Amino acid sequence: MAAEIWERKLARRLAWITLFGGIASWGIRQFRLGLMPDNFNWYLAGFLFVLFTLLLWSGRYRLLIAFLVINMTLIAGWALLNNVDDRPRPGAVMLLMTANIFSAAYYGFRLSFVMTLIDTAVLIFLGYYFTRPGNTGPLPLPAGFTPFTNWLSTAVGFLTMSILCVSVVSYAVSRLKHSFNQMRNLLAETLEQKTALEEKERLLKLFTELSSDYVYQVDLAQPDLVPEVFAGSFERITGYTLDDLRRRGGWMSIVHPEDRTRLEKQVPRLLEGPGLISEYRILSATDKTVWLRDHVKTLRDEKTGAVTKLIGAVHDITESKSAEQQIENLAFYDPLTALPNRRLLLDRLEQALALSARTKFFGAILFIDLDHFKNLNDTRGHEAGDQLLIQQARRLVRCVSEGDTVARLGGDEFITILDELSPDAESAAAVATDVAQRIIDALGQPVSLTHRTMIDYENTCSIGVAMFLGHEQTIDEVLRRADLAMYQAKADGRNLFRFFDPQMQKLLSERLAVEEDLKHALAQNQFSLYLQPKVATGGALIGAEVLLRWQHPEKGLLSPISFIAVAERTGAILDIGKWVLTESCHLLRQWSQHEASRHLKLSINVSARQFKQRDCGQVVRETLSETGAAGRLLELELTESLAVENVEETAAKMKAMREMGVGIALDDFGTGHSSLAYLKRLPLTQLKIDQSFVRDITTDANDAILVQTIIGMAHNLKLEVIAEGVETQEQREFLEKNGCHQFQGYLFGKPVSIEEFSKTYIRSE
Ligand code: C2E
Ligand code: MG
Ligand code: MG
Repeated sequence: MAAEIWERKLARRLAWITLFGGIASWGIRQFRLGLMPDNFNWYLAGFLFVLFTLLLWSGRYRLLIAFLVINMTLIAGWALLNNVDDRPRPGAVMLLMTANIFSAAYYGFRLSFVMTLIDTAVLIFLGYYFTRPGNTGPLPLPAGFTPFTNWLSTAVGFLTMSILCVSVVSYAVSRLKHSFNQMRNLLAETLEQKTALEEKERLLKLFTELSSDYVYQVDLAQPDLVPEVFAGSFERITGYTLDDLRRRGGWMSIVHPEDRTRLEKQVPRLLEGPGLISEYRILSATDKTVWLRDHVKTLRDEKTGAVTKLIGAVHDITESKSAEQQIENLAFYDPLTALPNRRLLLDRLEQALALSARTKFFGAILFIDLDHFKNLNDTRGHEAGDQLLIQQARRLVRCVSEGDTVARLGGDEFITILDELSPDAESAAAVATDVAQRIIDALGQPVSLTHRTMIDYENTCSIGVAMFLGHEQTIDEVLRRADLAMYQAKADGRNLFRFFDPQMQKLLSERLAVEEDLKHALAQNQFSLYLQPKVATGGALIGAEVLLRWQHPEKGLLSPISFIAVAERTGAILDIGKWVLTESCHLLRQWSQHEASRHLKLSINVSARQFKQRDCGQVVRETLSETGAAGRLLELELTESLAVENVEETAAKMKAMREMGVGIALDDFGTGHSSLAYLKRLPLTQLKIDQSFVRDITTDANDAILVQTIIGMAHNLKLEVIAEGVETQEQREFLEKNGCHQFQGYLFGKPVSIEEFSKTYIRSE
């Protein structure tokens, strides 16, 4: 391409020079010869002119040069042949030489050498031709020269000069071509490199876009530190153009206010080291919070070592951050109420104790338990329960200051930590009192529950307050104290709060001691069974309820009321319950061997935790078969709330028991708000009217109606009905009159040991 341009330029110039030179020399010649008409010259000039024009126009320059050379040779030949003075004509010889030089330049040394030889031969021939007789020109020749020798010397001169010139020109041209080729190669190479570079740049840009969202550079000499962005989606991520950023006053203006100070604090560390990776938030143009991971490196001045520029690669990590957040939420927050869970609460409590230790300020924790939450759950379903929890949680948060922690411990239990109340115990307690009262008032407002039907549900809560100062107590202790105070609040009538006091501490220690002692009680044979008779209308003994007693080495005989709840919590109830079952079955087996006791039934109390065990049915079956007791003489007393909790599962378990002949009684019936619909689905055998209703049956009209209703319900469901806690004859008569024909209570006998029971009730019969 470049070679063609070069050739074309040269050819064009030569063509013009030759054309004008030729015309000029022809004109001068005509002028000198007195403007004689010369047909050949006219013809030649015309031919050449047309040829040049055509060639110039069509641009075939190599051909043009060839024609030039041929024509120069022809013209020179013509001029020499038409010689008028018999002497070589220097102009024509020069023309020949020029033609040869051109051909050397264009077609190489060999061709022009051949042409030179031919020309020399022509010159020698012409010398010979002009020596013919009478052919002497008008000009005198130098002495010793004939026309032939004159031509010969011209030919030799022509030959040597031509070869010299041709050699020089062809050498120069070959050098020129060589260096031109070199140049051309160099150019091609450079072009290739340029394309490769462009390709690399394109790839680099692509890689940059793949490996990061955008890369940037900041010139620290700039006042507002607006970055220069090289590649990537700066605008997509930030929503701003660089100009917007400049107008807003630089990069920091869009960094999230909560992250600015942290970022500014990193600057000295950044300027000292090779770079750093930081994660921070920005507020995009659409006011969205975007998390960025910025990997920034410092560029230093080679001489001074000072940082002049920062270059960095930025990733949008919003999605991974939100995933992280979700994971953290799952680990530390309660999914239902979005409050901190137990784990986070313990962490915060630890911080609160440490803070209190440092500042010597009292803090407090409030243990909040919703009253009768279980009833709502049981009667209206878990969705309604969930709604209540969510709404009460919101109210709780509103009752405390912004920095205070409100956590959900589980179920319907919440904890509030109040920090830095006061250095003085009394004023600290006063603040805690305020907050507790505020919570009682707020949570006591009716809650709108929209599940199934819209209702305004009246809910209250009980609160236990425990104060703390530094590390005087461990976290567990603080929590236990608040828990205990909460139980006190419940015991005192609910919908109120109680502070933990030393009296409670005693209770707490006792509870802990019970917990500890319970661990060994079974192994050390400290439990025994008491029996309380159950009688029918005529006073006939129909069986007994088995009631557990604990012969404590120090405290004496303990009622189950003082330890069943603890045993349930620690799980000890499982082993204890199994022991009660086994012992009772042994007793049944024994009784079955005597005529007087063969028909007597035994009812045992089964706690919720026990019944919820997966293998509960299997345990009963195995015990029955191991002891050889008859299933139909065994009855399980279950609490009402347990029965309605998970109806399907409970019904299935009960059915399995019934298949073994085992009876199922609902204990303390009337306290658990179970509906007729639930009861219908359970394969029960008996309802046991709670003693609290029996107690006032003769004095309280409401209780009387309730008991009548329960008896009616039992008849409708074709269930047996028994009343517990029958202490007076009036109570018995009322019950009997209303259709209840089985009784249990002090009127017929208190719980007594097995031996005494046998002695008193069986033998005497
Ligand atoms: P419960 O099943 O409702 O048992 C009746 C309770 O009322 C017994 O108290 C009994 O002594 C008492 N009682 C019976 N008749 C009268 C009366 O006429 N007047 C009064 N004021 N009280 C009467 P106890 O033995 O202290 O048992 C309390 C509760 O402990 C039982 O209530 C039962 O829920 C639970 N319990 C007892 N033994 C066991 C057991 O082996 N396993 C489980 N899981 N719980 C048990
Ligand atoms: Mg019972
Ligand atoms: Mg009962």
